[in-house]
Amino acid sequence: MTNSSPHHIAIPGAGLLGRLLAWQLLQSGCKVTLFEAGSFTPNQPQTDRAAAFTAAGMIAPLSEAVVSDEGVYRMGQFALTQWPQWLATLNAPASLFFQRGSLVIAHPQDLSELEQFERELKFVIPQCKSYHRLNQQQIQELEPDLNPNFAQGLFLAEEGHINNRELLTAIGHEIIALGVNLREFTKVNVAAHKIITENSEENFDLVIDCRGFGAKSQDTKLRGVRGETLHVETKEIQLSRPVRLMHPRYQLYIVPKPNHRFMIGATQIESEDRSPITLQSSLELSSALYTLSPAFAEARIIEMDTNLRPAYMDNLPRVKIQNGLITANGLFRHGYLLAPAVVENILAHILKKPELVFTELLN
Ligand SMILES: Cc1cc2nc3c(=O)[nH]c(=O)nc-3n(C[C@H](O)[C@H](O)[C@H](O)COP(=O)(O)OP(=O)(O)OC[C@H]3O[C@@H](n4cnc5c(N)ncnc54)[C@H](O)[C@@H]3O)c2cc1C
Repeated sequence: MTNSSPHHIAIPGAGLLGRLLAWQLLQSGCKVTLFEAGSFTPNQPQTDRAAAFTAAGMIAPLSEAVVSDEGVYRMGQFALTQWPQWLATLNAPASLFFQRGSLVIAHPQDLSELEQFERELKFVIPQCKSYHRLNQQQIQELEPDLNPNFAQGLFLAEEGHINNRELLTAIGHEIIALGVNLREFTKVNVAAHKIITENSEENFDLVIDCRGFGAKSQDTKLRGVRGETLHVETKEIQLSRPVRLMHPRYQLYIVPKPNHRFMIGATQIESEDRSPITLQSSLELSSALYTLSPAFAEARIIEMDTNLRPAYMDNLPRVKIQNGLITANGLFRHGYLLAPAVVENILAHILKKPELVFTELLN
C-alpha cells in the first residue's frame, strides 16, 4: 500500500469478486469492511446466494471464447496463470485448481454440432493450436468411464477447473483471519465514499461495488441470466476433467467435484426468475448425464440450484472507476475465468501498481 492508497475500503458483496478483492487488499495492509446481503457461509441454495456458489468453476478460455470474443480468451489465459499463483498463498486443505484440459463430445447423430464448435473456435482464435481432435479410443483413454459410443471429440488441453465452493470457503477463512470487518445479512446501496443501509450511511475512503446481480436496482443496464444446475453423487464413475456435451437444443457440461460428486449444468435462460429448477430442465440435465454413462443411473441427486448470471447487453465485464467508487460487474458465465483480470486491474489502480493489466475492462 502506498501513502496515497485508500486506507479503509468498503466492499459490498461477498461473492467471487468481493472475496478475492477483500483477500488481496487485506494482504496489502488495507482495512476492509465486507457487507453481504445473505449469509457469509451459505450452505444451502437460497435466494440471495452468490452466483459464485452455484457456478461450475470451469476456467475455460477456449470454450468461452466461442460464445464471446478474443478478449475473453486473453483474460482467460491470464486466469490460468493467476489462479495457481493466488492459490499457492492460500491456506487450503486440498488442491483446488486443476489444469487437465476439458473434453467436448457429441453423440454420433449430433456430430455437426461438434464441427460447428470447432469452426467457431478457429474463427474466434485463428492462432489457437492447443486443441486436438480425438477418436473413440483416445476419448476412452482420457475418460475410461464414459459411454464408449462417443466416436469423436475435441480435447481442449489448456483448460482448467476449480473446486469453487471449497475455494470460496478457504478465502472466507483467510479474510476472517486477516481481520476483515464482516457485516453479514446487511443489504446495502452504494454511492461515492458511502455505504447506505436501511437505517444509516457510513463513510469510507473507497467503495468497491461487487454485488453482482444485486446491483441491478442501481444499475439498470445489468440483467440476470437464469442458470439451473444439478449435483449428483456416485462412486460408480470417475471423471478427471469437465466434459461438454454438444447437442442441437442445449449444451451441457459435467464437472467432477470432491467426494464423488458431479455438477451438471447449466441452462441459460433470458429470465430473472430465481425460482426452483423446472421439471423440463431437470429432465434435460439428468437425461444428458445418463447418456454420458448409464452408470449415472444410480447416482443420488443431492442438490438442485438456480441462480442469475450478472450480465450486460454484450455479455462482457465492466470495471468503472470514479472518485470514491469502483464498480465491477457483468462477469456473466465467465466469473472464474475473468476474475483474475478484473481483480488485478482494480488492485493496480488502488495500490498504484505501474500498469493496468487489461485496459479494455475500463470502458
Ligand atoms: C449456473 C452457473 C454456472 C456458472 N459456471 C461458471 C463457470 O463454470 N465458470 C465461470 O468462470 N463462471 C461461471 N459462472 C459465472 C460466475 O458464477 C459469475 O460470473 C460470478 O459469480 C460473478 O461474480 P460476482 O462477484 O460479480 O457476483 P456473485 O458471485 O453473484 O456475488 C455477489 C454477492 O453480492 C451479494 N449481494 C447482492 N446484493 C447485495 C446488496 N444489496 N448488499 C450486499 N450484498 C449484496 C450477493 O449475496 C453475493 O454474495 C456460472 C454462473 C452460474 C449461475
